[in-house]
Amino acid sequence: MKNTILIVEDETAIREMLTFSLMQADYIVLQAKDAMEALKVLDDVTPDLAIIDWGLPTISGLELVKRIRENDVISTTPIIMLTARTQEHDKVKGLDVGVDDYMTKPVSINELQARIKAQLRRSSGFKKSNILKSENIQMDLDSHQILIDDTEMSLSITEFNLLKLFMKNPNKLLTRENILNHVWGRNSFVESRTVDVHILRLRKALKKYNKEHLLKTVRGAGYKFLD
Ligand code: CA
Repeated sequence: MKNTILIVEDETAIREMLTFSLMQADYIVLQAKDAMEALKVLDDVTPDLAIIDWGLPTISGLELVKRIRENDVISTTPIIMLTARTQEHDKVKGLDVGVDDYMTKPVSINELQARIKAQLRRSSGFKKSNILKSENIQMDLDSHQILIDDTEMSLSITEFNLLKLFMKNPNKLLTRENILNHVWGRNSFVESRTVDVHILRLRKALKKYNKEHLLKTVRGAGYKFLD
């Protein structure tokens, strides 16, 4: 099976060059030009490895690594960070947040390939976890299987994505707008009333398992999933 690599780099020329070389080496390559785009990709896909540039606009590569390491599903993905020579003395900071390896720009493709192989060898011993767990609910994001107290629950795709969003953000207030952006996408023309309709359906589904109390309505603000 081909390995999937996510490249996060704002400089188009470098990103395209890396993408081209890694595709030649038979990897599946996903690209992101900044951290927000990367996080969006990571919502749907768990890559086998990520190459992240330190110097990204708005949210730095370092901050992105921190967020990846905090996320249960993708926290074990090996990360190779690209740095400019001027950032070399900061490398220890990266190791602190969980960078697995470094390369200084300009990147030698042969060396990068070798380091990718080394990281993939190291990580292939661990089973990739693509499972979200809370106290009562377990969601397998690959097989789309949901277990509530060990009983299987089936949901339509929208309710599945809603529950996934809630499970990823337990005990956090999510506004209708948050939910809309994540489940339907930022550019969708869905009305916020639609969110309520699907929440109602999800709550009904949870009720069959006596778990409707987990999905709280926060009056005038949005919804909260209790873990
Ligand atoms: Ca950069």
